[in-house]
Amino acid sequence: MEHIGFNVPYFTGKETHYIYQAVLNRKISGDGKYTKLCHKFFEERFGFLKCLLTTSCTDALEMAALLLNIKEGDEVIMPSYTFVSTSNAFALRGAKIVFCDSRPDHPGIDEDMIESLVTDRTRAIVPVHYAGIACDMDKIMAIAKKYNLFVIEDAAQAIDSYYTGADGIKRPLGSIGHLAAFSFHETKNIMSGEGGMLVINDERYIERAEIIREKGTNRSQFFRGEVDKYGWVDIGSSFLPSDIIAAFLYAQLENLDDIQQKRRQIWEAYYEGLKPLADSGHFTLPVIPEYATNNSHMFYLVFDNIESRTKAIDWLKQHNINAVFHYISLHNSPYYTSRYDGGDLPQTDRYTDCLLRLPMYYDLNPQIVIDTLKKFYQPE
Ligand SMILES: *Cc1c(COP(=O)(O)O)cnc(C)c1O
Repeated sequence: MEHIGFNVPYFTGKETHYIYQAVLNRKISGDGKYTKLCHKFFEERFGFLKCLLTTSCTDALEMAALLLNIKEGDEVIMPSYTFVSTSNAFALRGAKIVFCDSRPDHPGIDEDMIESLVTDRTRAIVPVHYAGIACDMDKIMAIAKKYNLFVIEDAAQAIDSYYTGADGIKRPLGSIGHLAAFSFHETKNIMSGEGGMLVINDERYIERAEIIREKGTNRSQFFRGEVDKYGWVDIGSSFLPSDIIAAFLYAQLENLDDIQQKRRQIWEAYYEGLKPLADSGHFTLPVIPEYATNNSHMFYLVFDNIESRTKAIDWLKQHNINAVFHYISLHNSPYYTSRYDGGDLPQTDRYTDCLLRLPMYYDLNPQIVIDTLKKFYQPE
């Protein structure tokens, strides 16, 4: 029986060629030829004002927290149903994390609950575009404007996905908030093993972002010939990746359209193939709000209860298929539960218990997974 893993990284074939070129160029530290090519790709294709590759999305979020001077006593609003880095980056600066519930129809942040969490200590909102599906950014940006808050998009899963607001303009995710963080971890659509990017959409933060990324020095300005020596000008750390990582990433970016098309086909096949089971009430399928596009990052099912989910996982496992669940609500996590003083987050708890992610990767044949689920619910 063929084993179907949850994620199998896809290689375009060009990665090792570009890595070899980077080595031949004798420039494998940060901000070399391939880093610049990646920055240019993102800025041209998605219209991001300024892009800076980082070694992870976690690093990009930590840079964002430094850049906005998040400090002890500040409050940052974000969903509880997210990866730990979304909150850890701000907790590191001493901020209080204010967790918001998820939407009933979608694991993304409940936009209508955000305003009730704003206090005079709130500094920022961090919406997470779960599964690459946009949060309702009009609502979030309006709250941010009203209370003078920053918006940092956690766009880790959201490459090549879009939001259409009330003005009818289709905007790429990551271009709407003041800042945005992307991930190129092996489990994402476009990847470099580990990797990430900070997007800066507000001109005021570009110069300092470069400094924070370069250990608190103005080295980037020095290399552009803007200053005649560089030194310690601010706090910072080492957030930039080797050009070897960027060389790998560039090969993936060149094949973005192919990768996205293939993932879309798999996603559609899952949706069509599993619709009869969803119609019979065994689980529900992902909901894509009309303002959002689908970048096919993830295919998930939502069950009625944890027992049904466990049965499905076990059945798939018996058939050599690895389906996984994720996000144990952060407000109930071992680190945060004693610090949490907010209310119940029933939707977050529901997704924690009931959401299941099916295998999703370029070379996957989804029919095997569909047939295995059908055999479970509709035995002949
Ligand atoms: C993957 C992911 C991250 C972390 O990305 P890394 O590049 O591994 O640091 C953060 N937030 C979300 C929502 C993610 O899915």
